[in-house]
Order: sequence, then structure tokens, then C-alpha cells
Amino acid sequence: MNAPVRRESLQDLEQFRSEARQWLEENCPQSQRQPMTPEEQYYGGRNAEFPSEDAKLWFERMRDQGWIGPEWPTQYGGGDLTAQHSKIIKEEMRAIRARTPLYGLGIWMLGPALLEFGNEAQKQQHIRAIIDGKARWAQGYSEPGSGSDLASLQCRAEDKGDHFLVNGSKIWTTAADKCDWIFCLVRTDPDAKKQEGISFLLIDMDDPGISTTPIGLISGESEFCQTFFDNVKVPKENLVGELNKGWSVAKELLVHERKLMSEIGSDSPREVIVPNAAAREYLDFEHGKIADSQLRSDLVDYDMNMHAIGLTHFRTFEEKIAGVRSAAPMVMKYVGTEAEVTKSELLLAIMGSQGLGWEGDGFSKSEIDTLRLWAMSKIMTIAGGTSEIQLNVIAKNVLQLPQS
Ligand SMILES: Cc1cc2nc3c(=O)[nH]c(=O)nc-3n(C[C@H](O)[C@H](O)[C@H](O)COP(=O)(O)OP(=O)(O)OC[C@H]3O[C@@H](n4cnc5c(N)ncnc54)[C@H](O)[C@@H]3O)c2cc1C
Repeated sequence: MNAPVRRESLQDLEQFRSEARQWLEENCPQSQRQPMTPEEQYYGGRNAEFPSEDAKLWFERMRDQGWIGPEWPTQYGGGDLTAQHSKIIKEEMRAIRARTPLYGLGIWMLGPALLEFGNEAQKQQHIRAIIDGKARWAQGYSEPGSGSDLASLQCRAEDKGDHFLVNGSKIWTTAADKCDWIFCLVRTDPDAKKQEGISFLLIDMDDPGISTTPIGLISGESEFCQTFFDNVKVPKENLVGELNKGWSVAKELLVHERKLMSEIGSDSPREVIVPNAAAREYLDFEHGKIADSQLRSDLVDYDMNMHAIGLTHFRTFEEKIAGVRSAAPMVMKYVGTEAEVTKSELLLAIMGSQGLGWEGDGFSKSEIDTLRLWAMSKIMTIAGGTSEIQLNVIAKNVLQLPQS
């Protein structure tokens, strides 16, 4: 049993819901109440520009309200609200289709980990900068030889008295060429057992010796970089937690990353068509039923699965509030990301040849988006730990099966 988190009375929550609804109604500009393109997503950063004046206004209002980080302490710019309040804000935003005002690894992953493991100076500097949209963060975990077996990482940080000297490289660092900072796992004790010689460092991307090379993708886009560290001096105060104990920070951060991915389908900024609606638009019906019995059965399976996932998310949330430790969060990254793949494949099967358009006049925007989301859905089963690795974790930690 974990300690129960602060729980509000139903009456207080209903009162909060009605106030939140009113506040959102008065403060969310109309232009910020519709799906957005990936280019319109705002990630912040030292040199970032808002996609529009309304996006800026909306971000500033949410920031001043403390709702960029609703559960984070007020002394760092958060709202000091409970998980229940935060859920209500999300639900009410979704109800008016309000855009998420700030995206990024700072808000999703680093912030929560720093609140747990960071010292006061680190929280003052970095949590506030994240909330103010002044720092965009990259993740420096994977290396060319260390992905699934992350603990085998080799990027080295040598103790040089008042600083660490970092040498090595990180790969698949999303948007590292646009980021101001990178949180990095580095090897500080090469002689220790692999998990015990790792530390967690915060590194300014402007430091001399850091360079990034974009990695071209088959889509023609380049979302990833390889990031190189060549004798980079990192001040000692940028170590998070204890020396050689970075693996604990890394794992906590991964919990937040995987939770985010488990909910990926419910939080898409794009206009996404759902399989049932697509079926009505694209399929033949006989006597009120979808003619193809296999597709009919796949649709029902999908709907039942999504209902079960929704209920499990609800149960996980209630267990968290009650302080009950449960295995559900460990399985949800696998279940949620695989469900997105199933949804995309189902949509393509329903759309037939209309689901094959990467671009061009013969296809609607929603058809093109569906194909692109299908490609995206696959990468989410890799990022943050592959499905196979999630199954290994479930086998070991949840089912406690013997290890080979
Ligand atoms: C969209 C996206 C964004 C990403 N962003 C970042 C980022 O910002 N920063 C960062 O550090 N990394 C990032 N990554 C990298 C990601 O964490 C790794 O790709 C992932 O951990 C897998 O590592 P790998 O690519 O080296 O594959 P490998 O570890 O080489 O795995 C290859 C295949 O072997 C399987 N496999 C490996 N070991 C086992 C095992 N023990 N049992 C069963 N199967 C196994 C895997 O499941 C996989 O199918 C990103 C990846 C993606 C797709």
C-alpha cells in the first residue's frame, strides 16, 4: 500500500469542475479550440516562437493560472492541485477541444523526476523554466550500442574535481538540434556492476563540445539526432541525485514516459477519425450490418478492448488516489500503444485504397492523416522501451515468471 494522495470531497470537486469550466470558457481563445497540425504544437525553448498570437495568449493565461503544471508546487510556478483536480482540468479542456498549450519532455518526464530527485536549486532553476516555456529538453538515454539494454551505456563522465568531463554519443535524441538542455545517463564508474555505475546529468546544449547530426527518416523528415559529446565540461551541481545512483532517477522518469505513451490515443492533437465512424463512411452494409463479417468482428473486438482499457485507466487512477500499489501501470504502455496499432490497421482496412495516400489530390486530409498516424503508431511501440521489452518486464515483475 502506498500513502494515499490528497483526496477531495465530491462536492469540492464538482465546485472545482464548474469553476474550471467557466474559467476555460472565458480564457481559451476560439482559435485554440480545434485540432492542430504538428507544426502548431508549441514546445517552448530559448529561441522558440509561438505559432500565433492566440497560442501565446493561451499559453500565458494557462501559465499564470498555474495550470501548465497543475500538480506541481506553486513556488516553482505550478498550481499545487491534486491529481483529481488535474484530471478535471484535462476533461474540461477536452470537452471544449482546447489545445495543449505546451508540449515537451520537460513537462512530461523531467519535471516529475526532478521534483522527486532534484535538489532545491535544481527545482528552482529548471522546473520554473519548464513551466515558463523557456527551456526545451532532449532525452539522452539510448546509444548506438545500448537501446533495450540501456544499462550497458558507455557515454563516460569523468570526475575532474569541480566538473565532469563527458565524452561519447547518444542516438535517437528527439529534436536535440532544437533543444536547450539534455538530461543524460552517463557512466561514472566503469568498474561497478552496470546499473550501479550510472549517473544522471543535466547538460546545457550550448556547452562547448556538443554537436548534433540529424538522422534522415524514410518519410523525408528528420525528427531524430545523434548527439556527440567531445570533452564537454559539466558543472558538478548538474548531477541529479547521488553519484552512481542515476539508474533510480532513470527508471522513475521512464515510468512517466510510459504512462504518457499508454494514453497516447486519447490525447492526440490531430483530428482523428475513429473506426466506427470510418465504417459508416466507407463500408457496405447489408440488412443494417457491415457486410464483411471479419471486419465486423474486428470492430467489435476493438471496441470492447478500448472499453476495457478505458476502465483500467480509471481503475489505475482510483488506485493511485487510494494509495493502492497495482500492476496495471506496468502493462498499460504495452496495451495502449499496441491498441493504437490495431486501431490504425483497422482504419486502413476499412478505408481500402483510400487509406494508401501519403499525399496527393485523390485523398482527403483525414485519409492522409490516417496513413501517417498508422506509421506513427508503430514507433510508439518502440519509443520508451519496445513492446518485447515491456512483455519481459511484465513477465518478470508482474507475473513473476522464472528468468531464462
Ligand atoms: C519515436 C522514438 C523516439 C525516441 N526518442 C528517443 C529520445 O529522445 N532519446 C533516447 O535516448 N532514445 C529515444 N528513442 C530510442 C528508443 O528508446 C529505442 O529505440 C528503444 O529503447 C529500442 O532500442 P534500439 O532501437 O536500440 O533497439 P534494440 O534494443 O536494438 O532492439 C531491436 C529489437 O530487438 C528486440 N529486443 C532487444 N532486446 C530484447 C530482449 N531482451 N528480449 C526480447 N526482444 C528484445 C527489441 O524489442 C527490438 O524489436 C526513441 C525511439 C523512437 C522510436
